[in-house]
Amino acid sequence: MMPAHSHHTTASIKRIGVFGGTFDPVHLGHMGSAKALLAAQNLDQIYFMPCQQHPHDKQPMANAEQRLAMLNLAVQGQSSFSVDDRELARSGKSFTVDSLIDIREEVGEQAVLIFLLGSDAFAEFHRWQRWETIFSLANVAVIERANAQSVQAIETVGLKQKINQAVDFVDAPCGQMTIASLPPYPVSSTLLREQLLQASASSSLLTEFMSPQVLDYIYQQHIYR
Ligand code: ATP
Repeated sequence: MMPAHSHHTTASIKRIGVFGGTFDPVHLGHMGSAKALLAAQNLDQIYFMPCQQHPHDKQPMANAEQRLAMLNLAVQGQSSFSVDDRELARSGKSFTVDSLIDIREEVGEQAVLIFLLGSDAFAEFHRWQRWETIFSLANVAVIERANAQSVQAIETVGLKQKINQAVDFVDAPCGQMTIASLPPYPVSSTLLREQLLQASASSSLLTEFMSPQVLDYIYQQHIYR
């Protein structure tokens, strides 16, 4: 029997990445890793999806509007990148699983969805709301991050099994996991906020790891002072 989807050519199946985060501020670690993963997994599009400020968590220094504006500047002119503001538009805590339910509904059941996260975030993944359900909605790509626990070392039951079955190239709509060893970007938002606080306007770290447009916006808005 022919599989139900056999009339679709491979090219017609959309491959979409979703990159969630605080983006306080967005930097080259995010953008460069996303670009490398776009190529490695042959994605059509990556949505950068900033999260809501959680009342009980560490507060971002930039407000939602500013984080959104910085992301819009960072993706400008790159047609494969877009900004998805659904978590900012939704009131209450952002759960990735809820956003992925929405996105899956929008893209249809055949689309290949890949949720991207760094290995530091993945180390906490088993504490996320309904993380098993995330695998029924999307695939997960973990980006090995300098100075973070390596993905292979994560021992959590359930996740360990996923890690051992990781694939190089994701070819299912959901349920697979891939470990992306991309060229590492030794940068974090924390490091950049520290540089900005020290008023080291000439810091080469800032110009090396942030887009000039984002940096200009930060200075204009006096965000991290
Ligand atoms: P902070 O220093 O404030 O914790 P961050 O730099 O980790 O911020 P987030 O917005 O928290 O940035 O990260 C969003 C996602 O991007 C997370 O999954 C995180 O692991 C990943 N990420 C952040 N920086 C890098 C990087 N340099 N390389 C690869 N992934 C990264």
